[in-house]
Amino acid sequence: MRSHYSSQVKPELEGEDVILCGWVHEKRDLGKLKFLVLRDREGFIQVTAKKGVTRDDILEDINSLSRESVIQVKGKIKLSKKAPNGLEINPSNLKVINESGSPLPMDVTQKVDADMDTRLNNRFMDLRKPEISSIFRLRSAVINRSREYLTGEDFIEMCSPKIIASASEGGTDLFPISYFDREAFLAQSPQLYKQMLMASGLDKVFETTTYFRAEEHDTRRHLNEVSAIDLEMAFIESEEDVMRVLENLTVEMIKTASSCKKELETINREIKVPRLPLNRFTYDECLNLLAQEGKEIPWGEDIDTEGEKLLGKLLQEKQGIELYFITGYPLESKPFYTMPDGGKYSKSFDLGFKGVEVSSGSQRIHSHDLLVERIRHHNLDPENFEYYLKCFQYGMPPHGGFGLGVDRLMMQLLDLSIRDVVMFPRDRHRLTP
Ligand code: ATP
Ligand code: MG
Repeated sequence: MRSHYSSQVKPELEGEDVILCGWVHEKRDLGKLKFLVLRDREGFIQVTAKKGVTRDDILEDINSLSRESVIQVKGKIKLSKKAPNGLEINPSNLKVINESGSPLPMDVTQKVDADMDTRLNNRFMDLRKPEISSIFRLRSAVINRSREYLTGEDFIEMCSPKIIASASEGGTDLFPISYFDREAFLAQSPQLYKQMLMASGLDKVFETTTYFRAEEHDTRRHLNEVSAIDLEMAFIESEEDVMRVLENLTVEMIKTASSCKKELETINREIKVPRLPLNRFTYDECLNLLAQEGKEIPWGEDIDTEGEKLLGKLLQEKQGIELYFITGYPLESKPFYTMPDGGKYSKSFDLGFKGVEVSSGSQRIHSHDLLVERIRHHNLDPENFEYYLKCFQYGMPPHGGFGLGVDRLMMQLLDLSIRDVVMFPRDRHRLTP
């Protein structure tokens, strides 16, 4: 239906006929002159109609058209110093494809900033704003790059089931669903499946996946449906091998975001690409840093939200560090499959980004007997893990992996809330649209 997007209409094409399709963004009527701003995916273009020059029926259509109607405009490109991009279209044909109702449920011209609920209730409309759609174009580029990077590093894309029979990890709450005459659950992570694949000889796998978590959070960084990149790799010497993949991957993703110049300009952001290798701080070092600032966390406890935030601020302000690893967590605070390191420590790590956890990972236990012991220790029943434990009895190599929250990463990258970077977020209160 169109010959060009608005951004493809360039001064070099002056005098040529083009066909553009999009929405009526704005209209201005100066009597003899009528302006219409057409918006499409790539931007805006001014359509200028003049009494005595433009056909009368086109002038009438422009008069009566409601904002946000879908139109097709055919016309000649004309250079114009007064037009926003230095050029305009003089219409020879205007087709009203689908008229918009009015009043509009929200303003698309950004003159009035709508609250988050109104925006999410009308997400299709919210996304018409370039400031909003740019977030998702950037997100798409970043995810694309992660796939490209990992497949380039010989990782195989896997696909784990999202309907499962029992908890993968314990701890986080599951959403029960009815599965014919049985109860089943939505998967909270592909953890057990990606580990099982380590016994298959595929060695390096990843999945761009969804976590379903029935946690009753109500924060700006938690959702109940989460996008993540989940990865597992075999024949590792230690968790350090996994951390190297994670830091390379994350920096590649950030680099890609930083190269999306048009989107960053539209949303008014600058992105700093972290230098490799990333800094590593042990859990104990972090507790000390926090204690020096008056924030005491008893050894063994999780670094809470306030602590995470303060740590992020300290590292950023004192050392200019935005992206960093925290290593050597207490074993007790980590899931059952985490490899112990000496007595009370674990071979685990988190990736922090400006004071928010964006990824967790570890070397995993590959000994069957130790795994059974750890499952029992977590008050879980090894019988529920039969299909998983079997893989550890017939040749399981040493392995490790991580889960990287894409929503979290995007949110920290662009300094937004998690609801800003997810098209249709699911939280405790929101199930539609
Ligand atoms: P948190 O402690 O921040 O709630 P978690 O430690 O429970 O997260 P993991 O199980 O380690 O989360 O999941 C790996 C990654 O997935 C997290 O680092 C985060 O980026 C993302 N993630 C997990 N749960 C959520 C959630 N409810 N909302 C958004 N992202 C999440
Ligand atoms: Mg975690």
